[in-house]
Amino acid sequence: MSSVIIKTIRIRKRYLAALALLAFLSFYLTRAQNDRAERQVVEAMSQALASRVIVVDSGHGGVDPGVVGKGGAQEKEITLAVGKLLADNLAQAGAMALMTRETDSDLSDPATAGVTAKKREDLERRVAVANDNRADLYISVHVNSSPDASRSGAQVYYQPGAIHGGKAGRHIQSELSKVLKSTDRQPTEVDYYITRNTSMAAVVVEVGYISNGAEEKLLLDPNYQSKLAWAIYAGAVKYFAVENPPAQKPPGNERVIQTFKEMEKQILKEP
Ligand SMILES: [Zn+2]
Repeated sequence: MSSVIIKTIRIRKRYLAALALLAFLSFYLTRAQNDRAERQVVEAMSQALASRVIVVDSGHGGVDPGVVGKGGAQEKEITLAVGKLLADNLAQAGAMALMTRETDSDLSDPATAGVTAKKREDLERRVAVANDNRADLYISVHVNSSPDASRSGAQVYYQPGAIHGGKAGRHIQSELSKVLKSTDRQPTEVDYYITRNTSMAAVVVEVGYISNGAEEKLLLDPNYQSKLAWAIYAGAVKYFAVENPPAQKPPGNERVIQTFKEMEKQILKEP
């Protein structure tokens, strides 16, 4: 092969490498630009949150760890971390964010004896935080688990037939899919004690699968937790901005207690 041909091939190789680098950079720049534009859209809409009361319910806590991963991660620590970040986002936008817990504790009375009685009291009090404060939206943060270790991604649930819960669920699920770029799920109806007994739009956000080794690591990563919190926040912003739900009327506490008594003999289904 003559030196001229070798030179041409070398130049072509260099040219191709530069082209590949350019394509790679433009892909990431476009993606970053899109992400930035999307954030600006959400921030512009965020005034819809002003004076809205939003309950951020970090699932489990205290003696109840929730689901536990093979690597030792506990659901209760992930839900608290994401819940705190979510409440910060909401408060910065002018919403009144109420957390059901801010420490590693459950809501039951320390004097209450028995696991089932404590769990019942804990769930009843989480619901009461939302109903007593006439919340406009209730977001319960949980972590999923499955015997199938390949399962991954975030999933939003709402009470069967709940119109506003369904709308909030669709916005939050859509933002999670957009931000995480790893799930393409639809929000699903499920009958949980907390979504059944809260009198406002209520959703349970299962932020990922602790039973998936890779996702368990991600769920403990503060950057990933920020992404999750931001996606849920963006979904809440769009729910209020697009759907403009009416502000909650005071429900009083009687209904909660009554419902609770009616359900006493049933098994408390919780996420
Ligand atoms: Zn849970």
